Order: sequence, then C-alpha cells, then structure tokens
Amino acid sequence: MLVIGGSIAGLATGCLLRKAGWDVAVYERAAGDLAGRGAGLGISAELVEVMARAGARFDAASGVSQREHVWMERSGEVVFRHPRNLMASAWARVYQPLRAALPAGIYRQAMTLAHVTQQAGAVTAHFADGSHASADLLVAADGVHSTVRRQYLPEVEPRFAHYVAWRGLVERRELPEETCAALTDRLVFSFAPGEMLLAMRVPDGAYFIWYRHVPEDSVADLFTDASGKSHGLSIPPPLIRQELVRELKDHACDVLPAVIAPLVVACAQPLLQAITDMESPRLCHGRVALVGDAAFVARPHVAGGASKALLDARALCDALAVEKTVAAALARYESAQLDFGRRIVQHSRYLGADLEGRPTVRDPARIIRDYGAPHLLHDVPQTE
Ligand SMILES: Cc1cc2nc3c(=O)[nH]c(=O)nc-3n(C[C@H](O)[C@H](O)[C@H](O)COP(=O)(O)OP(=O)(O)OC[C@H]3O[C@@H](n4cnc5c(N)ncnc54)[C@H](O)[C@@H]3O)c2cc1C
Repeated sequence: MLVIGGSIAGLATGCLLRKAGWDVAVYERAAGDLAGRGAGLGISAELVEVMARAGARFDAASGVSQREHVWMERSGEVVFRHPRNLMASAWARVYQPLRAALPAGIYRQAMTLAHVTQQAGAVTAHFADGSHASADLLVAADGVHSTVRRQYLPEVEPRFAHYVAWRGLVERRELPEETCAALTDRLVFSFAPGEMLLAMRVPDGAYFIWYRHVPEDSVADLFTDASGKSHGLSIPPPLIRQELVRELKDHACDVLPAVIAPLVVACAQPLLQAITDMESPRLCHGRVALVGDAAFVARPHVAGGASKALLDARALCDALAVEKTVAAALARYESAQLDFGRRIVQHSRYLGADLEGRPTVRDPARIIRDYGAPHLLHDVPQTE
C-alpha cells in the first residue's frame, strides 16, 4: 500500500494498516521535520483512542484541559459559561508520537508525488524525481492542496469564507500572570462586530485564534508583502507586512478584554490564514482513497482537523479488515466517511456564519454551546 503525504492522516493510516498486516510505504514531500511548523490543536476522545490503536500514545500531560467555555466582555466580565471537557494541545504533540510509531525505513521523505496511473489490479505513484512505485491501493493523505484529488476531482477546490484567522503562540514567560490565570482551565471567547477571538492555554504558554471578517476588496492587500508581491490566500509569516501586525495589536488593545489583549500584543510573529472549506463529492477512485484534508476541509471552529484525519484512517482500516476485496472496502469507507465529512464541514460553516459579512442573527451563547462538533466528536474524559 502506498500512502502519499506523511502528516497526521498519512502517518495514522500507515501505522494502522501496518498493524493490520499491510506492507506500507509513506511518501512525504517535505525533506525536514514537520514538527516545528504546527500550532494549537483540539484533542477529542476519538483522537486519543485512534492514536492508541495506531501505537502512538497521546500523552495526556501534553494536553491542557478546558473545563468551560466562557464569553468574556470587553470589560473583562464573564457573561456566559458553558461546561465542557475539551482539551487543547500543540500540533507537534500529535504528530511526533505518530511519526515515532512508524519505522523510519518506510517513511520516505523528499518524495513529491506528480501523478497516479491505474492498471488492472494495481495503482502506480509517479514521483517528481522520475521514480515510481506500485501497489494494490494508494491512500491520498496529501492535504488540502492534494495532487491526487486534483487529478481525479479537478473542480474541487477550497472555498474562501470571507474571513481570516490570525493565530499566535506565546510562551508563558512572555505573558502577565493575570493573562495566564484568566485562561486557566477554560477557553475564552471574545466577540467584536464581524470578529471572534478564542484564547486558551497550551502546554508551554497560551494560544489565540482571532477570526476577522475581510471585505472582498481588502483580501488581496492582507496577503501582499512589503515588496508588493501578492501571495494569493496564504503568506509565509515573516512576509506579513509589519503595519498589519501593528494594526492587529492596536486593535487588540481597542476591542479585547484588557486581560486578554497582552496575548496578541506579546506575539512576536502571528500567522495569517484565509479560512476556507472544501467538500469532495467522492472519496474513492478505482484503487485510490482520499483521507484527511485531501478529502474534506472543515473550518477550524470544529477543532477537528486532526481528529477527522484519524477517524478517516480508522474507517479505511476497518473497511479493509471486514471486506474481501479492495473495491468493496473502498465503497464501505466512502459511504461512512462521505457522510461524516459533509456533516463536519456543514457544522463548521454554521459556527462561522457570523464572520462571513452577511447579515445574521448573532447569538454568541449558542455558538459557544455548539463550538467544536459535540454531536460528532466527543470531549476527553477528565481523569480526576
Ligand atoms: C506542518 C503542518 C502544521 C500544521 N499545524 C496545524 C496546527 O497547528 N493546528 C491545526 O489544527 N492543524 C494543523 N495542520 C493541519 C492539520 O495537520 C490537518 O488539518 C489535519 O490534521 C489533517 O491532516 P492531513 O494529514 O490530512 O493533511 P496535512 O497535515 O496538510 O498533511 C498533508 C501532507 O502531505 C504532504 N504532501 C502534499 N503534497 C504532496 C505530494 N504531492 N507528494 C507527497 N507529499 C505531499 C505535505 O507536505 C503534508 O505533510 C498542520 C499541517 C501541517 C502540514
């Protein structure tokens, strides 16, 4: 079996299928370690369970619990509380155990898939370096800009939702004690018109994600660097113009609770991301299966990208275990995960609807209650 993409979905698929007795090889485009690039991540009970099954234990000590979601007004007053058992962690804390669980010999780096061909009973991956590999199944875990999906479903592309997210991680020592205290054991929401900020603790500090509506005519400017070069809808953080970072920090002081604003102000290098979502109408094409972000991308409000990737991997592995042929297994996988993918994307659109710039009835308490995807992904049980 060939797995294209060696991030969360590819590693999980590789680990689970290897345990089930498949001969697996994972091909990853990046040459170095991915761990340094991640930020904050939601942990669900399903994520913990599938990681354990993959032989990659999620260390609960690397998660930070969120026992309640609170809505904090600009004055600092908490006007709504909703009890939850969510857990936040850092992307690397999920990636690293999965990476360690897969033997180095079957994780091939600096391998960029160029295209796929299929023959009777086999599928072949053709790589940019001219090499190729064949197997009876190819799993496309190559993310939102999947080369494999673009080959089979060229019309499917991520759709911009008319808002962006500014994100940032700040180490604990950079933060005032009151800010850390205000975030302890909780996820803090703050709402300004057309905006929603979430602030939380992560293992070694705190993290924010700040959604802001962007009018159509200002989008290009946000993703244009100081030399005037436009980067489409994704810009490398060091190229974000300093004046935009300054505006973000000034705006934080103007609209956020005084105890939360230092988290944004202290962030040396915020990240900027256009919020998109994407749905694939099919997940399987002959002997090819799409998993993780290659198949569906939900907006980040469901805090479920990694969980969904792991659940796709589990569903594929289970389908291959119960069905006698690859074709029957892929049909079973597709019918389960198409529905799941559609539902999680739909829920993420509902949670972000107020940020799209259309007139909507704002009800922050409802958003806070429904945040995540409580009907699809379960909170992590508390151990104490
Ligand atoms: C470095 C990195 C950091 C991230 N950090 C966060 C985070 O902090 N918080 C969060 O919520 N989500 C984060 N994500 C996204 C998150 O991993 C996904 O939303 C989710 O876990 C599903 O993962 P995935 O494996 O399907 O896709 P991705 O994680 O996007 O992985 C796709 C992988 O495929 C590889 N690839 C792409 N094209 C090719 C090709 N042609 N040939 C071979 N390999 C290819 C990419 O290099 C990448 O490693 C991050 C992703 C990456 C790659």
